[in-house]
Amino acid sequence: MSIRAVVGANWGDEGKGKITDVFAAQADLVIRFQGGSNAGHTIINQFGKFALHLLPSGVFYPEVVNIIGPGVAVNIPLLLKERRELINRGVPEPKLLISERAQVVLPYHLQFDAFEEVRLGEHSFGSTKAGIAPFYADKYAKVGIQLGELYDEERLRERLSEVLAVKNLLLTQLYGQPPLTLEWLLAELHSQSEAIRPFLGNTDLLIRRAIHEGKRILLEGQLGALRDPDHGIYPYSTSSSPLAGFASVGAGIPPYLITDIVAVVKAYSSCVGAGPFVTELAGDEAQELRKRGGDAGEYGATTGRPRRVGWFDAVATRYGCALQGATSVALTLVDVLGYLNEIPICTGYNLRGEMMTDFPLTGEMQFARPVWENMPGWRCDISAVRDYSALPMQTQCYIRRIEEVIGVPIRWISLGPHRNAILEVPQG
Ligand code: GDP
Repeated sequence: MSIRAVVGANWGDEGKGKITDVFAAQADLVIRFQGGSNAGHTIINQFGKFALHLLPSGVFYPEVVNIIGPGVAVNIPLLLKERRELINRGVPEPKLLISERAQVVLPYHLQFDAFEEVRLGEHSFGSTKAGIAPFYADKYAKVGIQLGELYDEERLRERLSEVLAVKNLLLTQLYGQPPLTLEWLLAELHSQSEAIRPFLGNTDLLIRRAIHEGKRILLEGQLGALRDPDHGIYPYSTSSSPLAGFASVGAGIPPYLITDIVAVVKAYSSCVGAGPFVTELAGDEAQELRKRGGDAGEYGATTGRPRRVGWFDAVATRYGCALQGATSVALTLVDVLGYLNEIPICTGYNLRGEMMTDFPLTGEMQFARPVWENMPGWRCDISAVRDYSALPMQTQCYIRRIEEVIGVPIRWISLGPHRNAILEVPQG
């Protein structure tokens, strides 16, 4: 059997939610394997428009089992709120199982994230303040709390009292804030743990059984390859790996089974937060693309922040696809570019007078200047097209050129935010 991963090849916001929602129609299990509520997947279907932050994108199919793997940062109140809101809006109650080994985003993770951004001032990373960096820092420092630990009161009290001694020093001495009391924290976690209890379980066992029974499994990544802490634009990266390779760890799947890796690639570039962004546009050109992008402009699904936008970056995307080990690509938001006479593609970086086609180190990127190639625009609305051969020749040329520069076959084209706005590209 082959397990499919849907992952981002860029900076995030490539439309993974939409693609996962489409593929989930043929899945038995949809698994989130990393990240937390720091990104949003926008999905538009017959139930309305949703921005999912923590729930897997299979939740709109009542027969799909949605799993939150041990690699995810679980903000309990937010997760439960998201689920409740879905049901309140008429979505049938989704099947949901959360790994008891996944860890909890604790109240002080949220506080530290916000206080640290203020402390860093103009050097801040543009955190979404969802507590993700402090959460993963604690996880790897081995002072995090697994969901399953919330029910062992003695152990929880002992572990938290040790952690809190250090946290309170930072809160009071570094950030000038009042300390937290252990009793308050325990009471808070007690109510959270009771509310989440019905959804917890051993996801490892369930996944192993599903593999054994040949069930169709879809792994859903968050953010994009360039945000990977090891291979991406560190330190403007995220705190967990968004790579398909990590799905094996964060979900609990034998690595050799993940052989169908769909990299979601955006037909232009967008980026949220700080850090180098070589093809970034400014002024009216940026404003126009931002206004026309996404389903209602390029504004963050979690934060509402205006996204930075630019033309397609072949250097970054080829690297992103390679990091993901992409076996195919879903090219999204192609419809957005229909207003242009010419569409620039960045095919290389000029780095101190030398042409580069490999992705440089973060520190070098500030010196990289895009080398452009212009493609003819198609100047019409293609959002209703459902047959590849009916696309204008210029659109087909743009798609083929992108395929050439990234070196991975493009199998799907997304032409709008709605579930049905997708077409398959004939292969071979
Ligand atoms: P994700 O985090 O990768 O799921 O992406 P986001 O949801 O943050 O951002 C993608 C945005 O593009 C959302 O507003 C989607 O509704 C929208 N979208 C997805 N695919 C398409 C498409 O093919 N065309 C258009 N116009 N919008 C799309």
